[in-house]
Amino acid sequence: MSDIIHLLPDSVANQIAAGEVIQRPASVLKELVENSIDAGATFIQIVIKDAGRTLIQVVDNGKGMSETDARMAFERHATSKIKNADDLFSLRTMGFRGEALASIAAVAQVELRTRRSDDELGILVEIAGTRVFKQETVQCDLGTSFQVKNLFFNVPARRRFLKSDNVEKSHIFTEFYRIALVNSNVAFSLYDGDEELFQLPASNNKIRIENIFGKNAKKRWQQQLLTIETSTNLVRIYGYVGKPEYAQKSGSQYFFVNGRYMRHPYFHKAVLLAYSQMIQASESPNYFIYFEVDPQTIDVNIHPTKTEIKFENEQAIWSILSAAIKEALGKFNVVPSIDFDQEGALEMPTGMSVENVRPPQTNFNPNYNPFGTTNYKRPILNWEELYGDFEKKDEPIESSPTWEPNFDSPIITTDSTIGQQQVIEHTESHADNFQYKNRYIITGIKSGMLMIDQHRAHTRILFDLFLSQIKNSHVLSQQVLFPEVLELSPEDALFFEQIIQDLQKVGFEFEPIGNNSFNIKGVSSYVGTSSVIDLLLDILDKAKTTAAEPTANLHESISLSLAESSSLKAGQHLTSEEMCDLIDRLFACANHNFTPDGKKIMTIFTQDELEKRF
Ligand code: ADP
Ligand code: MG
Repeated sequence: MSDIIHLLPDSVANQIAAGEVIQRPASVLKELVENSIDAGATFIQIVIKDAGRTLIQVVDNGKGMSETDARMAFERHATSKIKNADDLFSLRTMGFRGEALASIAAVAQVELRTRRSDDELGILVEIAGTRVFKQETVQCDLGTSFQVKNLFFNVPARRRFLKSDNVEKSHIFTEFYRIALVNSNVAFSLYDGDEELFQLPASNNKIRIENIFGKNAKKRWQQQLLTIETSTNLVRIYGYVGKPEYAQKSGSQYFFVNGRYMRHPYFHKAVLLAYSQMIQASESPNYFIYFEVDPQTIDVNIHPTKTEIKFENEQAIWSILSAAIKEALGKFNVVPSIDFDQEGALEMPTGMSVENVRPPQTNFNPNYNPFGTTNYKRPILNWEELYGDFEKKDEPIESSPTWEPNFDSPIITTDSTIGQQQVIEHTESHADNFQYKNRYIITGIKSGMLMIDQHRAHTRILFDLFLSQIKNSHVLSQQVLFPEVLELSPEDALFFEQIIQDLQKVGFEFEPIGNNSFNIKGVSSYVGTSSVIDLLLDILDKAKTTAAEPTANLHESISLSLAESSSLKAGQHLTSEEMCDLIDRLFACANHNFTPDGKKIMTIFTQDELEKRF
């Protein structure tokens, strides 16, 4: 039998190796832009076509390459960035493996033009499927321009493996953000064909974050970022964390070390722990945290597509990080005055001097009448009748069938919580209701004292109402006289298009006007006085996390956003009749104990508990 082992031709070996580095258009973009950063560029212009399938072009004003280097750059393991294994532990560059360009040239058609500042003429190299087709001197601008065309032209299986344009584009945005957020001193532009998606001037980290995520939500981002900054001999940590109330189901979360994006599940936990008690378990805060350490003390992942990085002093840095975040949150004083989500007895503010009591910081329109925002109003029941009615009712209380709130069981049996209707057995007189800090309604019940969060109660009431209206398509739309324009990031516009139909069902009307923007021509008649743009952005945020789920969830998330924005806020004074009406409508809801997103609406101080305090 003859021997059967032979060496693969270079072109095949390169294609196989390329699979490790280049998986999709976004990987090409990442490698090219990182090279431009390493070349000291201060302006990087990116153009993609067909989600990067037909073209990815990266033009920089960096240091350029000599004629020999321009040709060498495409060889496997050709790099100017490290010389030996020791250099791996003093990395200051993004690249070091010397395989990106070789990989790209193995699976695409590449055109490189490059010129150094000292050279009069530049070099043009054309290479495709590892074969060099052209190498000649040309007139060209200082710096380097790469055009990568028809990715995977020679690997049909890989081409088929690519996902829809939207998915590929969102991968591109992900890579772009990871680089742009940590290189805020570099100006970037990103075009999809002729359409400008991003134009980011050189700035600082904070402005860069706002420019990337802000667009028309800029104020939202400006308001929410708290600065963190700490410096020890082990590490310098700086950046921004979002205020707890801006936490979302999928927050924007970024760690960078020495100018490189990294994933770090262990440090992520430190961040979450610092926020515990301040946000829902299902939510996560936004953060942009930059670490600077001695490169000797980290181990950059040798795998080309992995972003995990090992730290020598992981535990110590964990504590420093955690303290820095707690300090930032503490300075901002974000701890709520009464934590409704805490089980057990509440601390009553006894012995507090009146001078120290600050009024709650609220933002509300005193002319806004929450009871006028809906077409629905149940008649105000007589107080006794309300509770008498309760005694008679005996059907079990359940959560609404389509909404799965975020808590273990809707029936909570601890003493301080209402979970079962027999708890409310009897009420005293009408005059027993009063409003505490214009935020909580307090009323006497036979077994003690009932305290209701007015905002959460109204949110539950409106949510139930909106959801049923959406399901029955009974929604009224109001045409607006002067349409506002909703400007979105390219990424958000993709999501938005997926939910437009549902928004139309609840009374919104939009007209796409190009450039990721939409005229808001009609508005759901339920929307209160709050900003329609903020409301839509909120709906969009929530929809992003439910996009893959059935429409029922989308309807719920839209109803919830509408309810939250239109419900009465803390700080709003209520007459005793309004309080009665609110309680009446709340108890008419199937699940009156919790808001649709699982926040506790009411709590009881039992007679026993109250007596123990005296
Ligand atoms: P690595 O970045 O790991 O060194 P690459 O294959 O990405 O490997 O690039 C090979 C070499 O080509 C780099 O080391 C660098 O010297 C050169 N190079 C690549 N892109 C540029 C650029 N935009 N400007 C200047 N030099 C570049
Ligand atoms: Mg590189």
